[in-house]
Amino acid sequence: MDAISIPDLLHTGGIAKMTQSTLFCDFDGPIVDVSERYYQTYRCGLAPMQATGGDLSIRHLSKAQFWTFKQNRVPDRQIAHWSGLEGDHIDTFLDRVSALVNHPSLLVHDQLQARAYAGLSMLHQSGVRVVIVTLRPPDQVMAFLARHGLEHTISDLYGMPTDQAAYRNQTHHKIERLQAAVAAQTRQGYDLSHPWMIGDTEADIMAGQALGLDTVAVTCGIRSQSYLQSFRPTHLMPDLWTAAQCLQQQVLLGRR
Ligand SMILES: [Mg+2]
Repeated sequence: MDAISIPDLLHTGGIAKMTQSTLFCDFDGPIVDVSERYYQTYRCGLAPMQATGGDLSIRHLSKAQFWTFKQNRVPDRQIAHWSGLEGDHIDTFLDRVSALVNHPSLLVHDQLQARAYAGLSMLHQSGVRVVIVTLRPPDQVMAFLARHGLEHTISDLYGMPTDQAAYRNQTHHKIERLQAAVAAQTRQGYDLSHPWMIGDTEADIMAGQALGLDTVAVTCGIRSQSYLQSFRPTHLMPDLWTAAQCLQQQVLLGRR
């Protein structure tokens, strides 16, 4: 698949390229809290089932229950079953959720992660280049960043042309995107010694590991700490802000 990238927004010169650190950063998880969108999508998917499901007894999970299941990788089919669905109704529900999750009326539920603004601002001030590598379409990413006044903190963006890839979160897609990002950044002359890949799922850790990067798994996203730990990331941190603090210290100490 062709790389989709926007031009470098910082327009840095050759000398700066030699000295700036680069952080490859996932979008959903480190920057965006998608939990409310996913929960509202679940509820919208269930809503018509009561009417069409005959004697089905629909049980809405609370948001805390739903998100705990998602963080521990309980299959969506099991979540549907625990919500009172059976047989073909589960397939109908899952198809509906997949069709709904990127609808504009649900995308508005995406929220900025707590402290993500502070984290991205700190990285920007420290001269760390943040390159987003995501399975979301670039126009969705740019619209969200613009809404939160964060475009200036991002140096480049590698996304996917389809809006279905992020929900499926397939590891091979993430590896391919990160590969394209690393190759393009290297071609453009940026210093990629000791770059980090930061993300909230196994796909991010495995992509970073496949390319020999240090990996930072954040626990503020869609996977639990114990689940992420099993993939042995280089660092496990609560959020992007904590990672930014750590990187800033290394920049000040001249280690990056
Ligand atoms: Mg993510």
